Amino acid sequence: MERTLSIIKPDGVEKGVIGEVIRRFEANKIKIVAMKMICMTKAQAQGFYAVHKDRPFFDTLTDFMSSGPAVVMVLEGENVIARNRELMGATDYRKAAEGTIRRDFATDIEKNIVHGSDAPETAAFEIGYFFNRFEIMS
Ligand code: ADP
Ligand code: MG
Repeated sequence: MERTLSIIKPDGVEKGVIGEVIRRFEANKIKIVAMKMICMTKAQAQGFYAVHKDRPFFDTLTDFMSSGPAVVMVLEGENVIARNRELMGATDYRKAAEGTIRRDFATDIEKNIVHGSDAPETAAFEIGYFFNRFEIMS
């Protein structure tokens, strides 16, 4: 059993696809074990995306992530890190497979609707960044 962090980014909330994203998780037997809506500060977004601090898009990305409400969730299931990434689709929505969340709803490489952890170590860091253990259902 694995856990991963999912975020419905501010563009996803703005576009009104919170329900649709969650529907896809549930339809794919992915269990939500923690969930809340937050408005990230710029500093919080910078800390979350610290691995990208030297990338050219770091400043606009962290502006975007702190621009409005986002929904953060902990997902649980077998192989859920990879399965969530599959449902999300490629970072660039133009390269994302048909039927993926990003292909269906994103309109920009940066504003791409969802975040998902990419490995067990990043999932552990990212879950701990937003949730304490009392907020995660066991
Ligand atoms: P992913 O979210 O698919 O794991 P990355 O970890 O590479 O992708 O990048 C983190 C986020 O940074 C992306 O989801 C996207 O919002 C943004 N991003 C990535 N690459 C670019 C880019 N070339 N230009 C603008 N924003 C980008
Ligand atoms: Mg990533």
